[in-house]
Amino acid sequence: MRILLAEDDVWLAEGLRQDLHKAGYAVDWVADGNRALAWGEGTELDGVILDLGLPGRSGLEVLQHWRRRGNRVPVLILSARHTWAEKVAGLKAGADDYLAKPFSVEELLARLEALLRRSHGQAGPEIGAFGLTLDVASAQAVLPDGQRVQLTATELRLLRYFLLNPGRVLSKSQLADRLYDWDAERDSNVIEVYVRRLRDKLGAGWIETRRGLGYLLRDPSQ
Ligand code: CA
Repeated sequence: MRILLAEDDVWLAEGLRQDLHKAGYAVDWVADGNRALAWGEGTELDGVILDLGLPGRSGLEVLQHWRRRGNRVPVLILSARHTWAEKVAGLKAGADDYLAKPFSVEELLARLEALLRRSHGQAGPEIGAFGLTLDVASAQAVLPDGQRVQLTATELRLLRYFLLNPGRVLSKSQLADRLYDWDAERDSNVIEVYVRRLRDKLGAGWIETRRGLGYLLRDPSQ
């Protein structure tokens, strides 16, 4: 999953970036409103953490601009001032959730995950498909028979994206977008390597190759 973090507090942003990485997200970080606005328009994102008090252009203006242009990316707003008026303004502008500073990282991650699940039409308490679920906190995949499989951070990123898009063909470049931050060197060939590792761990039949198109997560019992 690819997340834009728009936060001008460098200390907070650095910490969040590391926490988001650990939780299996690729993170793009911008520290002002104008860059946030442009980044949200030019990049395929799965979610945005948007501070309201940004230099250049406020988070609220950024959000209003995106929504006017039909950008439906899930947005969690952060605000230093915990006033109901600001919360209402943010939600009315099209935010999907709201968190007041100071907050615990655990709460932020839980809200973000819930947001991503809902935006992919998953109503359940955890990310999953075809009986395969993800325990993000322990970085484990849970197979239909209850068996648990330990995942690396990269495997977690990849499997989360598959589980939120079951039965959909995902191209190598789409998958690479979910693995790497914008400043990382990309190599979509490594996707093959990671898919093979996931297959080794989960068992054959979960991830199907569609030659020339990409991969899809399927129900192995079908
Ligand atoms: Ca700020």
